[in-house]
Amino acid sequence: MQHPIEHRAVLGPTLFEFTGDNGLVAPLISGTDAVRVNFDFTGLPPSQSLVTSFGTGPHQHFSGAWSDVRNALFTGGDMSTRTFEVEGQPVLLAMHGAWSFPASEIVSEIQKILSAERNLWNDTAIPFYAIVIAPYENTVSGGGGSSFTNIFNLFLADKQTPTAETASLIAHEAFHHWNPGGLGTVEETEQIAWFSEGFTSFYQDTVIERAGIIAPAGYLNRLNVTIKDYLLSPRLRASNADLGRMSPSDRFAQQEPYLRGAMIALWLSSEIDRQSSGQHTLTDLLLALRDERSKPLTADRIFTTVGRFVDGPTVARMRAFALDGVPVPVSPGSLGACVAFNDRPAWTFDLGFDTASLRPSGVVQGVRQGSNAYQAGVRDGQLLGGFSLWNGNAEREVTLTLREGDGRRERLSFLPRGKMVTIPHAEQIPGCRKGPRIPQ
Ligand SMILES: [Zn+2]
Repeated sequence: MQHPIEHRAVLGPTLFEFTGDNGLVAPLISGTDAVRVNFDFTGLPPSQSLVTSFGTGPHQHFSGAWSDVRNALFTGGDMSTRTFEVEGQPVLLAMHGAWSFPASEIVSEIQKILSAERNLWNDTAIPFYAIVIAPYENTVSGGGGSSFTNIFNLFLADKQTPTAETASLIAHEAFHHWNPGGLGTVEETEQIAWFSEGFTSFYQDTVIERAGIIAPAGYLNRLNVTIKDYLLSPRLRASNADLGRMSPSDRFAQQEPYLRGAMIALWLSSEIDRQSSGQHTLTDLLLALRDERSKPLTADRIFTTVGRFVDGPTVARMRAFALDGVPVPVSPGSLGACVAFNDRPAWTFDLGFDTASLRPSGVVQGVRQGSNAYQAGVRDGQLLGGFSLWNGNAEREVTLTLREGDGRRERLSFLPRGKMVTIPHAEQIPGCRKGPRIPQ
């Protein structure tokens, strides 16, 4: 399988995978409506395995909210399955395809991560939970996942052994079981993506640090990438409503809620600690939201609940960060007394000409004098034969292939750098004994 086909219903001779949303025909009923659903999988070949949000047997039943069926995953085919325990409860791992690492390697990571998260949420009695891993075939890097009712799936590069990135991805998808899965029905995903994706992004790395999968220094490295990506994002000041209207192909708009929410979580974590004199943590906010999970999870309910932990002006600031696109500051002591935020120079991304020119057979337009592109010889009116770039990354060279009138081709390369800015960079203070303070 190749990205992004995993988001569609997949029906192949050795693998099927679909969700309630993309694979079931159903009447138009509300997500909060109570339903009784029966599934019959008796026609499957005996050699093929089955794992769904509701079990592994040929006859499956579910009673509960319709949204849990829409958000269910159904998969089967040629899979190897194994069961292991987390906090005394069974967890099923199903793997499609052939892998360059033994399953036991990923099992021990999953155990550590799920155990840390179940303890963080004080929720260990989960009688059925499954993880499904399928390969992006013949790939060496990259991965993705999605969380569903009682299950999450991961797509990983089949030629790579698990990395810190993989562990972080597992922690992210597993965390969705509670955020937003356990906090109340979500009616408008985009309205709270900064919370459901952003706070999850913040916690995923604290979880793998606490689980001992990455060292404190590794945690700071990952956080520094988030801070840098956030502050250099071209969508930094976009309102939440505007982000929702931006194209699904706008990578920066899609990524913004993850970054923005992670930064809000870091900031709010230190505000809660300061204003409660260390009596409360950010995790207490999550648990308070879960206590009222019979109510829908909306931005207003989140802000109201935050108001139980911090004062009114702080809630108003948070609202402006989340909804209006006011940039989130980095508070100097937000990771405790032993982590300093030091200014580091960084380049903003600037292509040097109109990005609309970047298409096959495009004509270069809007070249700005003084830009690195101009200095490399890029001029208005040149015909593009091809290009390669890392959009948004000022550290990677852009290469343009220009077509000349006589059929010749010329290559130009340059670093797409704009202004130099300073970015706060988290660093352990030498000689200081404590690590970064993260919410427990
Ligand atoms: Zn997510």
